[in-house]
Amino acid sequence: MNDGSDAQAAIAALRRISRNEVYKARVLETPLLRQVLLRAVSRFIGGEELSQCLGVARGLHERGIATAIDYMGESTRDRERATHVTREFLRVIEALADRRSMASISPDLSHLGMAIDPQLACENAQVLAGAAQAASTEVILNMEGSDRTETILAIHQRLCERYDNVGVTLQAYLYRTENDLADAIERPGRIRLVKGAYAEPAEVARPLGPPTDVAFRALMETLLASGHPCSIATHDPALLEHAHRFIESRRLPRGPIEFELNHGIAQDRLQNMQALGYAARVYLPYGEEWYLYLCHRLAEYPPNIYRALADALSALPDMWKL
Ligand SMILES: Cc1cc2nc3c(=O)[nH]c(=O)nc-3n(C[C@H](O)[C@H](O)[C@H](O)COP(=O)(O)OP(=O)(O)OC[C@H]3O[C@@H](n4cnc5c(N)ncnc54)[C@H](O)[C@@H]3O)c2cc1C
Repeated sequence: MNDGSDAQAAIAALRRISRNEVYKARVLETPLLRQVLLRAVSRFIGGEELSQCLGVARGLHERGIATAIDYMGESTRDRERATHVTREFLRVIEALADRRSMASISPDLSHLGMAIDPQLACENAQVLAGAAQAASTEVILNMEGSDRTETILAIHQRLCERYDNVGVTLQAYLYRTENDLADAIERPGRIRLVKGAYAEPAEVARPLGPPTDVAFRALMETLLASGHPCSIATHDPALLEHAHRFIESRRLPRGPIEFELNHGIAQDRLQNMQALGYAARVYLPYGEEWYLYLCHRLAEYPPNIYRALADALSALPDMWKL
């Protein structure tokens, strides 16, 4: 009987592969592999093109589910590309201007140029914050690896000096998050709480599982009780249930609270929260940089590997007809 060590080894390998630029390039340059993996990721994303993503977003909005749209990618290495990414996010804001709070944007600062120069990412994020404010919507910054946390929070702080529509994501697995949450609550902008998706050294992060779940629960209670605009971003049914019971027992106003899940994952749980009267949002990424996103989604829930395999294999007969 396997004690789960095979699954752990697979997860560790996926996390390593996801960061390897050589593997990534090989995979994406091989047409068959690319097409097979694209089929596997398609249930989690809004497509490779903005037009496809807008169609998916429209369907969700019609069901009363808001979206946080991300033109996927991170670690942009040249300025031109960072400008292109910023322009693409502006296209998203423009395309969704009539839907206001139904659609926010959710970029990675490293996609906007932070790995080249934090000042460049800050300037690009300012452009997006201004456009989003004019369109009455929000920008929620994604949180990246722990080597970037400090820079992302510093940029968030600067953005908050000029805009009140810029939120940030905090990761419960990081030991530092208790302090970061206290600081973020003092600023405007929605705070999105997640468990954390990166392979982090033991000195900075708790292991996923019970230690992170306990921390998430405590941070979530602090955040909910603060009355600050927040997004509780977890698929974990025990934490969703705990959030609901906490809100009820404290009779907290629901206006500032939102529950947010990834597109294509546990949507029945989001519908349950909607049925309980809460605002619901889906993180909806699109674009060609889906490789890392697929690796993350497979690593965080190993049964997805079987689903991905089934999706990928179902793509083969179509391809072989060509
Ligand atoms: C809206 C949103 C934004 C996020 N932004 C960030 C970010 O900026 N930075 C960051 O580090 N992380 C981010 N994450 C990812 C997050 O850190 C976790 O890795 C991810 O949400 C899985 O953790 P969980 O809370 O759902 O709990 P888990 O304990 O991982 O999962 C609980 C249960 O949810 C279901 N589930 C979870 N994941 C999957 C999946 N992939 N497929 C199918 N079922 C699944 C399963 O039933 C599982 O048992 C974000 C997540 C969400 C929902």
